[in-house]
Amino acid sequence: MSTAHLTGRRALVTGGSRGIGAEIVRRLSSDGAAVAFTYSASASNADALVAELTAAGATVVAIQADAAVPAQAADAVEQAVAALGGLDIVVNNAAVGHMAPIDEFPGDEFDRLVAINIGSTYWTTRTAIKHLGEGARIINIGSINADRIPGAGLSVYGMTKGAVASFTRGLARDLGARGITVNNVQPGPIDTDANPDEGDFAESLKQVTTQGRYGHTTDVASFVSFLAGPESGYITGANLNVDGGFTV
Ligand code: NDP
Repeated sequence: MSTAHLTGRRALVTGGSRGIGAEIVRRLSSDGAAVAFTYSASASNADALVAELTAAGATVVAIQADAAVPAQAADAVEQAVAALGGLDIVVNNAAVGHMAPIDEFPGDEFDRLVAINIGSTYWTTRTAIKHLGEGARIINIGSINADRIPGAGLSVYGMTKGAVASFTRGLARDLGARGITVNNVQPGPIDTDANPDEGDFAESLKQVTTQGRYGHTTDVASFVSFLAGPESGYITGANLNVDGGFTV
């Protein structure tokens, strides 16, 4: 594949300041796309990423927007369209987790997970659709926890990611006739701030993979870039695992 297979394409990545989202921003950018990304709190990370990629000659824009607030999620799409001159690729990456026994799960955490993991995916997509044309790509970042829960405390997070998987299938039907593909990438354990390789649950999660190790953010970003490109046009409505064999 050409290293510039996204030249001329314009992408929005939600939650692009850190972790998997930041690596997706880097990869789409190095593969030729102009990229806008959102963040909520870490302005310094966002500024550093913009500086890094701008120095490499890329067009990249950071947008502060709280994914938990529908109006902000929608406005971020319009800001991205205005900044990039249109939109071809949407990556719904922003999400949060919280682990707790179900009978102790805090109500505000339940609301936050639903608002960000499900609500932001819906509002971002809903707003972006009118700007997307033939050949556009919608890529959701779900989780392997939609399919496999390796321990207690993950039921609410898993539920939100199951919703993303289901939304992906329906949306692929809704948008297929317009030549827009919709896919859901389901990572297994990936080393980020949210799930560090040295974290409390890391050793047990490693044992669920076939290789006994965490994945890297680049493992997810390279696959997202392929899905964003011209050679993935017959892949749609799919839940695609990048999980080191977590579900085997
Ligand atoms: P991180 O916590 O490392 O990064 C999350 C990103 O989302 C940050 O850029 C953060 O911005 C942004 N974000 C969080 N809340 C909001 C909000 N309210 N509004 C806007 N942006 C927000 O997460 P990961 O990189 O680990 O996860 C990325 C995706 O991958 C998520 O969808 C997650 O569910 C999924 N995933 C991750 C796995 C893993 O093992 N890491 C496994 C399976 C799925 P800010 O810096 O401003 O806080």
